[in-house]
Amino acid sequence: MLSLLGLASVASAQTVCIDPGHPSEVGIGTQGKRSTEVGIAWQIAKALQMRLRREGIDVLLTKQSQREKVTNRRRAEIANAAHAALMIRLHCDASNGSGFAVYYPAKPGTTAGVTGPSQEVIEASKRAGGLVHSAMAKSLKGSVRDNGLKTDAQTAVGAKQGALTGSIFSQVPAVLVEMVVLTNRKDEAFILSKSGRAKMVEALAAGVLAAVKQK
Ligand SMILES: [Zn+2]
Repeated sequence: MLSLLGLASVASAQTVCIDPGHPSEVGIGTQGKRSTEVGIAWQIAKALQMRLRREGIDVLLTKQSQREKVTNRRRAEIANAAHAALMIRLHCDASNGSGFAVYYPAKPGTTAGVTGPSQEVIEASKRAGGLVHSAMAKSLKGSVRDNGLKTDAQTAVGAKQGALTGSIFSQVPAVLVEMVVLTNRKDEAFILSKSGRAKMVEALAAGVLAAVKQK
C-alpha cells in the first residue's frame, strides 16, 4: 500500500518550468540604475522555485547559473521535455512607464521556418495568462501598477513573428511576466527591497498555483 501511495503521489506532482529571462540570443536584457534584469530575474526565479516546492510542485529552471546563455528555443524545449504544466518566463521591462504585465501567445508565430504554438497550447496559455494576471493584480494591488493581460503580438519581437520565440517552440502553456519596469526608479526600488521581492514572489506563486490548479 505504501509503495502504491508513493507512486500515486509522484504521478500527481505537477512540474512548473521557471524561465529566468536572459542571456539569450536577444541579449543580456535591460538594466536599472542599481540592478540588471538578468540579476533580478535570476533572484526571483530561485525564490519562486523554493516557494513552489513548498507547495509540492516539481520545479525546474531553464538555466543553471545567472549568466548561463540559453536560446529562447532551447528554453521552450526544456519545458517541453519536462512536460511542464506551465512555463512561466520572468523578465523586467524598459520603458517610460511603470508596473507589471502578463503576456501570452494569442496566435501562432513563425521563426526559423517553424510555426507555433498549436491551437491547444494557445488556448491553454490564454487561460493560464488570465489566471496568472488576475492573481498577480490582486497580490500587487497598491504596490505595483497593473498594465494588464497582453498578447505576444504586443511585444516588439512578437509583432514581427506573430508570437515570441519561446512561445513558438512551446508545447506547454507559456506565459511571460514583465515583473516591473526596471528603468523606473520607483519600480526598481520596489524590486530591490526585501519586502518588494517577497511580495513579487508571493504574487507569482499565487498566479502559478491558480494556473496549475485549473488543470
Ligand atoms: Zn527581458
